[in-house]
Amino acid sequence: MTMKRTKHVLKLMLLCMAMAVITNCNSDDDSTVEEEIVNEEEQPETPRIFMIPVTHHISRTDDGNNPATDAARIAKVMEDINRNYLDANIQFRTEEIRFLDNTAWNEQFEKDDDFGEDRALLEFEDPNTLNLFYFFRIGDTEEGEVNSTVTATAHFPGEGNNVKLTPSAFALDNFTTTTHEIGHYFGLFHIDDDFVDDQGRTELVDGSNCILTGDGICDTPASPVLDDTLVGDDCNYIGTLTDANGEQYTPDLTNYMSSLSIDDSFRIACRRNFSPQQIEAMVVSIRVDRPYLIGEPFCQFIDFVTEYETINSNTGGAPFTDQAPVDIEEEAPIAGEEEEEDMSNIGFAFIDFDFNNENCESVIISQDFLNLGCFNGDDITAVMTFTPENPESNQGTVAIVPTNFDCLSESGAQTLTYTIEATGTYDIETRIINLNYTLTLNGTAETGTLLINPLDDDEFIEEEFEGEEGEEGEEGEEGEEGEDL
Ligand SMILES: [Zn+2]
Repeated sequence: MTMKRTKHVLKLMLLCMAMAVITNCNSDDDSTVEEEIVNEEEQPETPRIFMIPVTHHISRTDDGNNPATDAARIAKVMEDINRNYLDANIQFRTEEIRFLDNTAWNEQFEKDDDFGEDRALLEFEDPNTLNLFYFFRIGDTEEGEVNSTVTATAHFPGEGNNVKLTPSAFALDNFTTTTHEIGHYFGLFHIDDDFVDDQGRTELVDGSNCILTGDGICDTPASPVLDDTLVGDDCNYIGTLTDANGEQYTPDLTNYMSSLSIDDSFRIACRRNFSPQQIEAMVVSIRVDRPYLIGEPFCQFIDFVTEYETINSNTGGAPFTDQAPVDIEEEAPIAGEEEEEDMSNIGFAFIDFDFNNENCESVIISQDFLNLGCFNGDDITAVMTFTPENPESNQGTVAIVPTNFDCLSESGAQTLTYTIEATGTYDIETRIINLNYTLTLNGTAETGTLLINPLDDDEFIEEEFEGEEGEEGEEGEEGEEGEDL
């Protein structure tokens, strides 16, 4: 249960890293880069606006009475979310307003009936839109009994395609709950969500473990578990709680993903912004998790969004001269100790979509994937283009056109410029890519094979998130806290 959620955090984190890679993937020479910058100044690029279609579902009785809301209120909800998501370049338009006639559901819809295998609302949804359901009450089950209600609840990516609201969520004076829920729908967690790192620590104020903890987003400050007593008159934090290092928290209570829906003393909603990295993560989630919302084809290469081990048949490494040669003197194995695996030709790679490629036919590989010993892995990228055997095939050929990359020595004093070119095969089922490459340095070419294997996700996650199990319970699976506001 926790696994699903942690997996998601991990994915977000990988995607964020990949986005960072993509934004500075200048494998061309400097003159091209300069040219691009000049052009950008002349003609500022218009940011892409994601227009999300929305299907609204109003709960009524079997005979079409007692609607949970009306078109005017739906228009107000749409106004709110469009205003709140404007800075994120995400906008919403009403595709259709439908009615959901079911007397039992009109009295109370059970949240759990729409999570997991047989989701009750799936058959009513428009699969190509965000589905907003308006109910009077949403019951929450704890220990097998429906004993509380929630204001609103959202499906995280991978859980389903809707957000459910009750009247207090779409009240005239509530401007933020739907925004907050859609944040979850696009994969965001609460700023005070309590993921812990491998040492069992929650997010530290200094940000040093921010990728694995808190909400998994680094530009939202660490936050203790929030409650009303910690908030001052103008949405400022007035608590004195400290983190594991003894540093005082300074959470941002104006973030839409704060779990507190509160107003300041002037009755202005505290929640009023997303952080830049939250926005980035939502955009990635739209493109990767919910491409159907923007009319883009489901990208089969989605399975390549993860971490890989690369096994390189050449073991030479970069011939740097400004550092001591690696000590290859081997010690005799001590009896009883396991002999260490030879890692000398194993590298590490991130593989992710090429977000500049609208046709979903290529992915970017980054890091020191040839295990050359480059210390600037983040700057090394190459685009792999995939050609399936036929349109339905999970297998096909893959190619890297000649691509230059700079390899930096540990001291940073020496740069070697390589050219890589490769062709090979891929298999989406096994997520294995096999490449025959030619690597050229100063006019000298050498050939080799590069085997790209996925690291075992679960193994990796268990290692990273050890100790977390049990803290989150059912909520991880369901994607929403019972008292969400
Ligand atoms: Zn929430």
